[in-house]
Amino acid sequence: MANMTDKQEVMLRMHDIHKAFGDNEVLKGIDIEVRRGEVLAIIGPSGSGKSTLLRCINKLETIDSGSIEIKGEFLAVTDGDGKAEYVETKKERQLLASTGMVFQQFNLFPHMTVMENLLEAPMQVKGLKREEVEPYARQLLAKVGLSDRADYYPSQLSGGQQQRVAIARALCMKPDIMLFDEPTSALDPELTGEVLKTMRELAEEHMTMVVVTHEMAFAREAASQVIFMADGNIVEQGEPETFFSQPREERTQAFLQNML
Ligand code: ADP
Ligand code: MG
Repeated sequence: MANMTDKQEVMLRMHDIHKAFGDNEVLKGIDIEVRRGEVLAIIGPSGSGKSTLLRCINKLETIDSGSIEIKGEFLAVTDGDGKAEYVETKKERQLLASTGMVFQQFNLFPHMTVMENLLEAPMQVKGLKREEVEPYARQLLAKVGLSDRADYYPSQLSGGQQQRVAIARALCMKPDIMLFDEPTSALDPELTGEVLKTMRELAEEHMTMVVVTHEMAFAREAASQVIFMADGNIVEQGEPETFFSQPREERTQAFLQNML
């Protein structure tokens, strides 16, 4: 098993990532590596830098120093002067197109139907024609169990349905890496299950995923690696079985106790 993973392509590598907002150093030298088909779960207390780290992957935030590689190509790299430099715009766009993101607050376009939400980026960003995208969009709606909701507006859907639309919308751009920032935190408890089920199915289909989550059961079952962050550092990292049953660090133990 270990040998098999060793051979998998590295989809995302972040090295020595530093990021500050003014005087507030939020990421203090983070290293992560995610191989094809892996699910990296990131857990940790509020304010520890999880969202910032995730947002650095698709350049919603820029890093101060360190390096980011996507599928073996540098998005940002730090050399002599200690400051991160991003690649040229065309390359950058191409690399960023490999990632799709799902936010806590769904972020659907409220004035567009579900189908229009899915078609928007492939048509506007990739310049595809409606008829080129629509069959795939329908497949994705079927996959997330919403075939019958294509013509609804987001406000006519439950939170869980909206979040599944958000997942389908991200997938419609055919990303290689899916990023999830607490995708179930804004949902009523009875609606989290349907979203987690969709995410589990994606993981089973070997989608590469980075998931910030408070859902410990999901992390334990679906993740290939778990990272515990606190105060801008990675405190502990491991495979889910060991991580959850025998956490080494006191801070991890305390955090997991509180989650029970
Ligand atoms: P988490 O997702 O783990 O709760 P965040 O990455 O959202 O943590 O936040 C980490 C720290 O960075 C917090 O102190 C937060 O206030 C700060 N922070 C996040 N985004 C910004 C921003 N855009 N401007 C200033 N400070 C920010
Ligand atoms: Mg957050």
